[in-house]
Amino acid sequence: MSESKYNPFTNAQIQFDKVAEILNLEPGMRELLRQPMREMHFTIPVKMDDGSTKVFKAYRSRHNDARGPGKGGIRFHPDETADDVRALSMWMTWKCAVVDIPLGGGKGGIVCDPNVLSPREMESLCRGYIRGLYTQVGPNADVPAPDVGSKPQHMLWMLDEYETITGAHYPGMITGKPVGMGGSLGRTEATGYGVVYTLVEALKAAGTDITKTSASIQGFGNVAEYAARLYTELGGKVTAVSCWNNTDKKAYTFKNKDGLDIQKLVDIKDASGSIDKEKAESLGCEILDGDSWLSQDVDILMPCALHNQITPDNFGVISRSVKFIAEGANGPTTPDCDDLIKDRNIFMLPDFLCNAGGVTCSYFEQVQCNMNYFWDRTEVLNKLEYAMTKAFKAVYEVSKEKNLYMRDAAYVIAINRVAEAVRLRGWA
Ligand code: NAD
Repeated sequence: MSESKYNPFTNAQIQFDKVAEILNLEPGMRELLRQPMREMHFTIPVKMDDGSTKVFKAYRSRHNDARGPGKGGIRFHPDETADDVRALSMWMTWKCAVVDIPLGGGKGGIVCDPNVLSPREMESLCRGYIRGLYTQVGPNADVPAPDVGSKPQHMLWMLDEYETITGAHYPGMITGKPVGMGGSLGRTEATGYGVVYTLVEALKAAGTDITKTSASIQGFGNVAEYAARLYTELGGKVTAVSCWNNTDKKAYTFKNKDGLDIQKLVDIKDASGSIDKEKAESLGCEILDGDSWLSQDVDILMPCALHNQITPDNFGVISRSVKFIAEGANGPTTPDCDDLIKDRNIFMLPDFLCNAGGVTCSYFEQVQCNMNYFWDRTEVLNKLEYAMTKAFKAVYEVSKEKNLYMRDAAYVIAINRVAEAVRLRGWA
């Protein structure tokens, strides 16, 4: 999914290098932490329903596991690249470290379009992924999860293949499984809720009353939907949502200046997070072009869809009313835009802090699987809110103490924790 101008892996390295300099990290440590420690590239042959054989490219990257087993999702996308997977595995290392869970960073991907594969072909692909990778993954090595395009059923097929090969039950080998089959209650809403838990703390720190705020959101998939739900439950007003339209093959922004009815929008969206234009019009939405979500007169922007969405080229369209950016997506802001955001004094909630609710809940899923005892939804969400709030407060404190931009403060905490684990293990 990389675009030529902004390669996510280059972006991840630029962000790392900047903070490695602030921390004066030793050269060997820098070299170790600015690239994945282990990477697998392999192919998966699948017998298609029409009798032909199709070969799919697959990746898994483990960026760093000094603090614990690798952890990170598997993306199913036709434009997936090795560099996407590398960058995302690196961000996972920082994400797990900033919320202080004992896991490292991993990520996987299969170059495929899950929307055009039959269930039987998908099952074959998922099982093939594990056959290619089973020596490298496992509850104590590297723990996959769902990501863009992959779903709980896919995780269960992968778990079943792993358990068939190894001959025992290892429910902590993969997370994001269906509830009742080792999945955790609260995982579906965890990332979006986590975005809002950190946003609530940022609003408190800035002395802003959430009930007097409005927000514009890019995306209406898993992260965006649950962020919108909780934000509106707490009294905020979502006035614009942008998402992909499967019929026209382009994005639209759906706007209602008095506030969108989130439940009604959820009722008309399809499984991929796409909203039909005519149905949205019948709900009283104004239909604008896909990029318009960025230029709305709101207090809060929540990019919750894609990477490389806020750049120096479009920064100028952001309204002066915007005071907070909550990055639900991974890498939505390019590194060359951070100074512009900082200069405008916008409160940045950086991706690997803001969207860490998902991995935190995945960690809870592993803990519950290992105990073979499952918590109720309230217990999961209370623990999640506690973890996210604690992580926000630690980052905010460092940003105030050292007069750092929030993204840099989050990196200072995460890199210090990982570097310390690397030193204690004697790796560098
Ligand atoms: P999703 O597939 O459920 O939803 C993606 C949404 O983006 C859909 O509504 C789609 O219509 C929209 N979209 C696609 N192209 C668009 C465009 N050009 N303009 C506007 N909208 C567009 O994905 P998700 O799980 O919600 O993930 C979104 C982002 O959050 C990704 O960057 C992902 O890596 C990140 N993330 C997800 C989780 C998680 O738990 N789901 C955790 C951490 C980070």
